[in-house]
Amino acid sequence: MSVITTGIQGHCAHCGSTHLLAPWQLNAIAINETFPCSHCHKALRLSDPKQIKRIKSLDSVAMLRASTLVMVCTALLVALVMEWVGLLSVLEQVNFSLVAILIYFIVVQYARHRQHITLVLEAAKAHND
Ligand SMILES: [Zn+2]
Repeated sequence: MSVITTGIQGHCAHCGSTHLLAPWQLNAIAINETFPCSHCHKALRLSDPKQIKRIKSLDSVAMLRASTLVMVCTALLVALVMEWVGLLSVLEQVNFSLVAILIYFIVVQYARHRQHITLVLEAAKAHND
């Protein structure tokens, strides 16, 4: 799976620092592997099922955002063509376009809100524990 990287932070159980997680650290979380803290380099892992679920749901949020962009672009184009062929007045076209853009910004805000996460990471035990 691909994890989008914007705004996801991790709180280290060893040194207590909170830092932005790098893509490779998020990948490690996604495949349930341990990874070193980028501050103190001690092993960390994410084992809280709720937080794992939240990370995994980000894929569908990214998908929603991407498909909304395509939909809005299509809607703007259709409105423009409808205005050219006389099915919409200029005012109707502008109103329609504004609503489409507004919907896009609402989705972007929602996606941004969902991506703003601080994960509480736990100290990882050794593999042969
Ligand atoms: Zn640390």
